[in-house]
Amino acid sequence: MNHIFGPVNSRRLGRSLGVDLFQEKICNLNCIYCEVGVTTRLTCERAEYVPTADILREIDEYCRDAEKVAELDYVTVTASGEPTLHSGFGKILSHLKNVTAKPVAVLTNGTTLSDKQIRRELSLADVVIPSLDSALTESFRRIDRAAKCLDLEKIIEGLVTFSHEYQGQLWLEILFARGINDSEEDVQALRQVTGRMRIDRIQLNTVARPPLESFARPLSSERMRRIAEQFRRDCPDRPVDLLALGAQQEDPCGEQNSSSAVNADKEALLAEIVEMLKRRPCTAADINRTFHLGGPDRVERLLAPLVETGILQQRFHGNRLYYQ
Ligand code: SF4
Repeated sequence: MNHIFGPVNSRRLGRSLGVDLFQEKICNLNCIYCEVGVTTRLTCERAEYVPTADILREIDEYCRDAEKVAELDYVTVTASGEPTLHSGFGKILSHLKNVTAKPVAVLTNGTTLSDKQIRRELSLADVVIPSLDSALTESFRRIDRAAKCLDLEKIIEGLVTFSHEYQGQLWLEILFARGINDSEEDVQALRQVTGRMRIDRIQLNTVARPPLESFARPLSSERMRRIAEQFRRDCPDRPVDLLALGAQQEDPCGEQNSSSAVNADKEALLAEIVEMLKRRPCTAADINRTFHLGGPDRVERLLAPLVETGILQQRFHGNRLYYQ
């Protein structure tokens, strides 16, 4: 399978099966904190970069096992890049709704919502998680390094319009990087935009995993909490989640969980882990949480040969060691 990964245990969506629409990184942004790597194709063009039929075939193949599908909480459409740039996006979404009967979530960078057709397609999803890292042109340029064809004002208008048209759950993610988009002026500008939107949750994040650029650094917990308070004051009934701090609290180092995965075919298991790491760097604890391998120590032993042969690399970010 080239486009189906997981299921992974996601903090936000429970047991979630991933559908990745691309095989190379195609995006209209080149964010400094990106976990996928450098944008190889920086474009605003919508095209069938991967045959839609190939993706539908993989979905059907996975769904042949009804037991596996029944265990899922969500199916998440994402991409090594921006999924709405795939011209088969709407067709893939409606196919997923039909064949899985599971709620479908979409992770998008939120930049394409000025396009009416994309808004219509996206409205098929049960949960949409767009991001908006800055409402100020200069900070937006610094953090997201957008393709020339994008205009921040249009992006914001698209997000605001979509938020009022859409009937499903809308969770807006904002990622802050220290000294890049975290000034008081930045926060005020973002609050003005969120004040115009209908949003079910705001999810604040910082550079919690190894970023593309080493100058992309996380905010302190204290600063993140203060920013969260500001958003909460604007609308006390709307939840404001701190994703990055949640990740630190959640780290289960030492979690013991014996499961059938321990006995699974080792090569297939390693291939699945490598697939997951292609999409985002993970700690041994993260990997253990998804594959239930009996604790981070066992994950380290299992992956040691892949590190030695250079298939995987290890990298410190903060005080945590990530595989990528
Ligand atoms: S973080 Fe998302 S939007 Fe930004 S460059 Fe990476 S894939 Fe594109």
